[in-house]
Amino acid sequence: MRIAMIGSGYVGLVSGACLADVGHDVVCVDFDEAKIEALQAGVVPIFEPGLDILVVRNAEAGRLSFTTDLSSAVASADVVFIAVGTPSQQGDGHADLSYVHSAAASIAEAAKGFTVVVLKSTVPVGTGDEVERIIRQVNPRAEIAVASNPEFLREGAAINDFKRPDRIVIGVEDDWARTVLAQVYRPLRRDRLQVQFTSRRSAEIIKYASNAFLAMKIAFINEIADFCETTGADVQEVARGIGMDARIGPKFLHAGPGYGGSCFPKDTLAFVRMGQDFGSPLRLVETTLAVNEQRKRNMASRVVAACGGSVRGRRIAILGLTFKPNTDDMRAAPALAIIPALLDGGAIVNAYDPQGMHEASLLLPSIDYAESALAAAEGADCVVVVTEWAEFRSLDLRSLKAAMKSPVMVDLRNVFDPAKLAAYGFAYTGIGCGAAP
Ligand code: NAD
Repeated sequence: MRIAMIGSGYVGLVSGACLADVGHDVVCVDFDEAKIEALQAGVVPIFEPGLDILVVRNAEAGRLSFTTDLSSAVASADVVFIAVGTPSQQGDGHADLSYVHSAAASIAEAAKGFTVVVLKSTVPVGTGDEVERIIRQVNPRAEIAVASNPEFLREGAAINDFKRPDRIVIGVEDDWARTVLAQVYRPLRRDRLQVQFTSRRSAEIIKYASNAFLAMKIAFINEIADFCETTGADVQEVARGIGMDARIGPKFLHAGPGYGGSCFPKDTLAFVRMGQDFGSPLRLVETTLAVNEQRKRNMASRVVAACGGSVRGRRIAILGLTFKPNTDDMRAAPALAIIPALLDGGAIVNAYDPQGMHEASLLLPSIDYAESALAAAEGADCVVVVTEWAEFRSLDLRSLKAAMKSPVMVDLRNVFDPAKLAAYGFAYTGIGCGAAP
C-alpha cells in the first residue's frame, strides 16, 4: 500500500513509521519545514521511546520518506491519512477544525485515481461528512471515499500501542474503502486483536467517549482520594480493592494532581461542546471537566500548606514537568497550573524534568531549571513530585534530604512510601491518605 500521512506530529509520525515498519510505502507530510528538514536528516523532533530507531531504520530501507510537498505525496497514494492537530478553539473550546479542512481541500486538488481519505485526527461527530463535502466541492471528479479511523495510542508507549493495539476502529460507509483499510491493518492482525467496523459517525464518537470515560475514571478516583483523606483511609488500598473487580479494572485508578496532556482536556471540552450543540448535554463529562480544572489549581495549596501556610520567599523544587512520564509533551500539564500559582504566592521555583525542560522553558520562562533532581533540590524548602518519572523512584533519599534546606516533600503521584520517607526524616504529604478524624 502507498500511504500519505498528512501531519507528522506525535500521531502522524508514529503511525507513519509503524506502517512503514510493517511493509507499507509511507510518505509523511508536514507544512513545518524545520520538522521535515530534521526528519530528512534522521533527527526526530519529539521524544518518544524507540521512535528515532524506527524512523531511521525505515527511512534507510526506503519505505519511509518526508516531504512538505503534499500534492506529490497524495497523488501517488492509495490511502491518505489526515493526522493534523485539532486543538481547542481559542475562547469556546470547540475542536478547531481549520487544519483538517485545509488538509481536505489540498487533498481534493491533488488526489489521482481511487483514494481512501482517512481521518485519524480526533474530530467531532459529523466531520467525516464535512470533509467529504469539501473534497467533492473542490474537486467534483475526485474518486474518493472518506473513513474515520481514530487513534488510541498513548504518548510514551506509542509504538507498542500502535503495533499491538487493544482494538482498531474503522468507521466506513463504502465497501471498497473497507477492503483497502483491512489491507492496511492486515500486518497488525493477531489472535486477540479486535477490528471493529462501524459507521463513520459511531467511530468519531467512540474516540471521544473513550477519552471521556478514562478522564471520568481519573476524576472519580481523585474525588475518592479527597474523601479518603477526610475519613482516614488510603486511596491506594481503595483503588486496589475496587480495581480487582473485573467490571471496573485496575487502570486509570491512580489518584494524582488531575489529568493533563494533549488529549483529555481538549477532547472532554470539545465533547461537552458537541453535547451542547446537538442539544444532548453530556453532564457527567461537564462535571469531570470542571472537577479536574479545579483540582489542578488546588494542588498548589497543598504545597503552601506543607510549607506552613505561605511559600513567599521559599525555594520549591519541582520534580517532573511533563503531563506524564516518557514524553516531552507539556500540553495542559498540571505543572502549568501548579507552578504559576506557586510563583504568584512568592515562591522561587527550581525544576527538573528528564525530557520536558526545553518545552517547559518556552511556557514557564521565569523559573530556574536544574540538571538533575538532586540539583533542583539544593537548598529547597520543599520538593514537589509532579510527574512520576521512573528515575525519581530510585532517588537516593539520604542525598535528597542532605541537599534540602528542610526535608519537606509533597508527592502528588504517590511515588514514595510514606513510612519510608518518615523514617528518613521527611515531612511527607501524599495524595489520598488521611489520619482518622
Ligand atoms: P501535533 O500537533 O503533534 O501534530 C500535528 C502536525 O500536523 C504538526 O506537525 C503540524 O505542523 C501538522 N499540520 C497541520 N496542518 C497541516 C497541513 N495542512 N498539512 C501538513 N501538515 C499539517 O498533533 P498530535 O498530537 O500528533 O495530534 C494529531 C491528532 O491526533 C489530534 O487530533 C489529536 O487529538 C489526535 N490524537 C493525539 C494523540 C496523542 O497522544 N498526541 C493520541 C490520539 C489521537
